[in-house]
Parts: sequence; structure tokens; C-alpha cells
Amino acid sequence: MEKAEKVLIMATNNAHKIEEVRQILGNRFRVSSLADIGCHEDIPETATTLEGNALQKVRYVHEHYGVDCFADDTGLEVDALGGAPGVFTARFGQMNGYGESHDAKANIRCLLDKLRGQTMRKARFRTAIALIMNGEEHLFEGIVEGDILMQESGMGGFGYDPVFSPEGRGVSFAEMPAEEKNAISHRGRAIEKLARFLLKN
Ligand code: IMP
Repeated sequence: MEKAEKVLIMATNNAHKIEEVRQILGNRFRVSSLADIGCHEDIPETATTLEGNALQKVRYVHEHYGVDCFADDTGLEVDALGGAPGVFTARFGQMNGYGESHDAKANIRCLLDKLRGQTMRKARFRTAIALIMNGEEHLFEGIVEGDILMQESGMGGFGYDPVFSPEGRGVSFAEMPAEEKNAISHRGRAIEKLARFLLKN
């Protein structure tokens, strides 16, 4: 009998995220979204840490839908801003009077304005992944170090990609082919740790 393909539920309805995770995992797993299990609600993300938010999402889905699943939460940590925006990365612009929450252009404008005249531009993307499997919770982390550019560069990717340049590459994430970004990105690294764990267990 053929071995069944492992199905993973990712606690998100963000199509871009699902697509990126599918690319990273290749044919090792089949990834389903919340819509695939009939969950269309907005899951609260009110924790004060990335880990807390990722756990909040998987606990919600496990409690309401009774399935094992994983979720991620990502933050951009800028040294010159004392580690901000961190857990507030998606809402950074809105919180500072620039557009709506999750508006990438507004977030970037806000970030560049805050760093105007600042030469120390070190930053990192950090992803926390939470997994609930057989009633147990597990956490995985992925980090990519880099710099915030003086201005946007490149058309690819999403979010803050046009202003984030990973260490040693000399280009922004938005100028890199998807596979190249995924191989070194925060999410790519965290997902690899998750995949290694799942293949062992
Ligand atoms: P989320 O936790 O994945 O929803 O991401 C939180 C915030 O970080 C959002 O504003 C995203 O646009 C941004 N973000 C997450 N991952 C990336 C990335 O790979 N590149 C650029 N921005 C990202």
C-alpha cells in the first residue's frame, strides 16, 4: 500500500504565506489552510511576543476544530529602534499615523521616516512557529540578520522586502528570486526546523 502523504494544517488564511511554505516544504508534506477546514474567522493575535501569538493561533484552532496544526508569527527587530516594531510589525504604520494595519507601503514609509538620518541600520526578521501535535506544544525559531536600506529597492516579495537587505548579499529581499530568499529567510529557517522535527516524529 502507498504511504499516505502527511497533511499539515497551517493556521492562516494568508494565501501568500501558504504558497511560500509550500515552496519551502516541496513534496515532503501537503499544506492545508484554515479555509480548507472551514475556518474563516479572524483568530485573535493579542500576545506580547511572537511566540505568544503563534501559540494563541494554534491553541484556538486546536480547541475549536480539534486538529493538529502549526502557525507562525514574524517580527522585524530594528536595533536603532530598540527592537521595534517587533510584535507590532504588521501594524507599525497604523500605530504611527501612516495608513491602515497590514498596509506594506505605509509600514515602509513609517520605517524609513523613523530611520531618517540614522546610519546604524542593523535589523533582523525573526519568525516563531508553534506546533500542536498529539496534544503537545512545540516552538521553532528562524532568524535572518540584515540592514534596513535607505530606500526601497526591487519589486518582488511582500511586506518589508524592498527595504530589507540580508547580510552579505548586497541586494534587498525584493530583488532576490523566491527560492533564494526562502533558502535564507527567517520563515524558511523556522519551517526547515519544523520539517526536520516532523520527519523525525
Ligand atoms: P506575519 O506575522 O507573517 O503576519 O508578519 C508580520 C509582519 O511582518 C507583516 O507586516 C509582514 O508584512 C511582515 N513580514 C513577515 N514576513 C516577511 C517577509 O518575509 N518579508 C517582508 N516582510 C515580512
